[in-house]
Amino acid sequence: MQQSLITIAYIAASALFILSLGGLSRQETARRGNLYGILGMLIALVATAAAMNVGGLPVLAAALIPGLVIGAILASRVQMTSMPELVAILHSFVGLAAVLVGFATYLGPQKEMTPAEHNLHNVEIYIGVCIGSITFTGSVIAFLKLRGSLSGKPLMIPGRHFINLLMLVMTIAIGVSFFLSPGTNGYPELVAATLITGLLGVHFIMAIGGADMPVVVSMLNSYSGWAASAAGFMLGNDLLIITGALVGSSGAILSQIMCKGMNRSFISVMLGGFGTESGTSSSTAAAPAGEVHSVDAPGASELLLEAKKVIIIPGYGLAVAQAQHSLAEVCKILKEKGVDVKFAIHPVAGRLPGHMNVLLAEANIPYDIVFEMEEVNDDFPSTDVAWVIGANDIVNPSAMDDPGSPIAGMPVLHVWNARHCIVMKRGMASGYAGVDNPLFYKDNTLMLFGDAKKVVDEILGVMRG
Ligand code: NDP
Repeated sequence: MQQSLITIAYIAASALFILSLGGLSRQETARRGNLYGILGMLIALVATAAAMNVGGLPVLAAALIPGLVIGAILASRVQMTSMPELVAILHSFVGLAAVLVGFATYLGPQKEMTPAEHNLHNVEIYIGVCIGSITFTGSVIAFLKLRGSLSGKPLMIPGRHFINLLMLVMTIAIGVSFFLSPGTNGYPELVAATLITGLLGVHFIMAIGGADMPVVVSMLNSYSGWAASAAGFMLGNDLLIITGALVGSSGAILSQIMCKGMNRSFISVMLGGFGTESGTSSSTAAAPAGEVHSVDAPGASELLLEAKKVIIIPGYGLAVAQAQHSLAEVCKILKEKGVDVKFAIHPVAGRLPGHMNVLLAEANIPYDIVFEMEEVNDDFPSTDVAWVIGANDIVNPSAMDDPGSPIAGMPVLHVWNARHCIVMKRGMASGYAGVDNPLFYKDNTLMLFGDAKKVVDEILGVMRG
């Protein structure tokens, strides 16, 4: 294909990726945004294949076809609750690809370059390999933590900030030696930098506690974008540079949003140590205790039907139980009976940014009754029933009341201000951050124990009479 046609195809693909991001920012336009992204990727793939020598096509097909098949099988089988793990491992592939591209570019046949171009090229390779290596190992650790194969407890090695700084200084020093090495003599330095930055990635993510994992997922998303962008520079591929920069910057913006949602600064997340692994809070205050009041499905149905205003707070347990479709039916009945029903979405509810929005959209719950935390938090005092379904950390009052709590300072939904608060979960277990929840012991809280799907179905049965 002519170079000019390829350039046009790349510009079209870049424009579609930008439109895709724009579309994905709102629920109403998210499907369209996804289609733009698919179309952009299709154009990018066809243009890249068309730009290659015919001899390279079998190699491309050998890499692409198994990748497409594995990707399609994985994507169709993955549960929404396992999405963060999948996303983390996919980020690791981008990092690994950047490392491999870096080595291949350095060791492969060199194009004719002026000394200045050659130096710049080596800078691109070195930075690309380092970012790629941090992204690769960091994402693998995030994958293992999110899967539960590694403990969510932060690894707090004494002098860990100094160790990180030392590794950073070593990477820079080795980089200088790499630039001064003629031809491909800098290969040992490149290997050493890959190992050190790989170790840095492991250490960075190991030190981050369970409660900060939402930020880690979005941060690694950003890193994978910069790694792809760096690979684009190494390969001289403008589309990869643009796409990587889009992913990198949108991941950075998402990290910022997640930090705001948790009232944490990005730096403090990076310094690590937020959140524990088990149900034992590091709080200095006494663990919550007292009597738990419980309710059964008919009792809860009665309260819901008598209410004028109900706010539903979905959490991770709703996703596990896959209760969203039955819940949509219950909402329909409540609305038909004239009850004002709203959904309150916490920015880190579930296990993925936007997890709850996807779940509710899947069940065709209208967007106009779904509200973000800050839009709805002041409504609880005038609400008859706050109905918490499979959520825990995001409704934990100790985030506000207990400065010693590992989640102190994280904004939460003020469900306890409603007249009644129904909390639906299987038992008294803590949530992802492993923190006890005093909400369960409040006078106006009624615990409704059981699997969310089973209990919502029971409520539906009672309401249908
Ligand atoms: P939590 O993990 O705090 O609580 C979920 C609760 O659901 C559990 O306490 C569990 O209690 C209950 N549950 C589990 N299965 C079921 C079921 N089948 N039926 C009914 N209940 C069930 O979830 P939240 O959504 O409240 O908070 C999200 C947490 O995840 C935050 O700590 C956040 O930082 C973290 N996180 C978020 C990410 C994101 O991007 N959104 C990414 C990574 C982590 P029980 O076992 O007693 O039933």
